[in-house]
Amino acid sequence: MPMDVIVIGGGIVGLATSYRLLQRFPDTKLLLLEKEEQLAMHQTGHNSGVLHSGIYYKPGSLKAANCRVGKLAMEEFCQEHDIPFEICGKVIVALDERELLGIQKIYERGQANGVTCEIIGKERLREIEPHAAGIRAIHVPEAGIVDYRQVALKLGALITAAGGRILCGCEVTGISERSSETIVQTTGGAFPARLVVNCAGLHSDRVLRMTDLRPEAQIVPFRGEYYELRAEQHHLCRHLIYPVPDPSFPFLGVHFTRMIGGGVECGPNAVLAFAREGYTKSDVHLGDLLESLTYPGFVRMAFKHWRTGCGEMWRSFSKDAFVKALRRLMPEIRKEHLVAAPAGVRAQALTRSGALVDDFLIQEKGKVVHVGNAPSPAATASLNIGNVIVDKLEPMLRVVARAK
Ligand SMILES: Cc1cc2nc3c(=O)[nH]c(=O)nc-3n(C[C@H](O)[C@H](O)[C@H](O)COP(=O)(O)OP(=O)(O)OC[C@H]3O[C@@H](n4cnc5c(N)ncnc54)[C@H](O)[C@@H]3O)c2cc1C
Repeated sequence: MPMDVIVIGGGIVGLATSYRLLQRFPDTKLLLLEKEEQLAMHQTGHNSGVLHSGIYYKPGSLKAANCRVGKLAMEEFCQEHDIPFEICGKVIVALDERELLGIQKIYERGQANGVTCEIIGKERLREIEPHAAGIRAIHVPEAGIVDYRQVALKLGALITAAGGRILCGCEVTGISERSSETIVQTTGGAFPARLVVNCAGLHSDRVLRMTDLRPEAQIVPFRGEYYELRAEQHHLCRHLIYPVPDPSFPFLGVHFTRMIGGGVECGPNAVLAFAREGYTKSDVHLGDLLESLTYPGFVRMAFKHWRTGCGEMWRSFSKDAFVKALRRLMPEIRKEHLVAAPAGVRAQALTRSGALVDDFLIQEKGKVVHVGNAPSPAATASLNIGNVIVDKLEPMLRVVARAK
């Protein structure tokens, strides 16, 4: 008997989708396939753990809509399942007069998206974050922190308890159509399914290419490198301190993030990773690297943004340069306050014309739904992204239920 639904990818998006599916259609025969031996080994287990408020995103975008509703759902989920989280608030600081317009624009987006936030002056900023630089800031009291790996593992346990099956160590290698079924080939054998959902993160474009769809964009892996404050310096950052981001990039710039498990993370930069899962400089996969370097979209982007790219790479090799970037936000920071911390790799979709895809991208064809771009704030938004995908599957799930 075929599975009703196969979900590919045991990161937070695949898990949240499976969880929502079983909540809304409890009789569904669901199988989740994950290539690693454990869940949440990639983006979900290597992120900053911020519950984003939704302040940055273009009103009407999928990011804006999903982040607002998803964040509330995530808080409720954590409360219900005793997962620690904290609504600690954050500040986005303007460092000089030139950044005031940027602050105003972000504030207006926040207002349009229904985010509780206010513009504050220097004195109030010093009360909230005594060690942050800045002449003006936006205070976002509703931003928070959580451990998304913990959320993902809880989702996994709930899926299994609801009758879903999770198979780790099982990599999807091919997808083919056979009359009413889709056959998902894996390293652990072939599984027939009526419907398939691709939530493969850093490999989502490759899984998409296994079907007869052509990806709208290719995933290019960008490594984000971090330092951590030494314990004696934790007091320098009370909550979350962010700069005004460069509007040409979907990255937020180096910032200070207090983590739910303790400690303060500083970073990240954004450099091309030489492997889809290249967490260190020495992780090189020749095929992955060539695929990025020969992709016309990457070449066009590199040509346009070479200056920024060089700056990011310089920060990757020079701790002094990284410290200099951090000192703009917090002048007291010195090199000896920082120790290297684990990096994360972002799955960033890039179009052939060289544009970084900013919004979430969900494509569907026939019986397969693909999540083609789920960058930050997709962890915050995951429980709502799951609902959006189940909405797409709903008509087909009703047909499946009738055929049983
Ligand atoms: C450095 C960094 C910081 C971030 N900070 C934040 C933050 O503070 N807040 C926030 O909301 N978001 C943040 N994000 C974004 C967030 O982590 C991601 O948007 C989210 O984790 C994406 O989840 P996912 O399930 O799509 O991908 P992933 O977590 O990468 O999961 C995809 C899974 O698919 C599996 N897979 C791939 N190919 C196959 C295959 N062929 N067969 C079987 N399995 C396969 C992989 O092994 C992986 O487990 C950050 C991301 C990074 C990298």
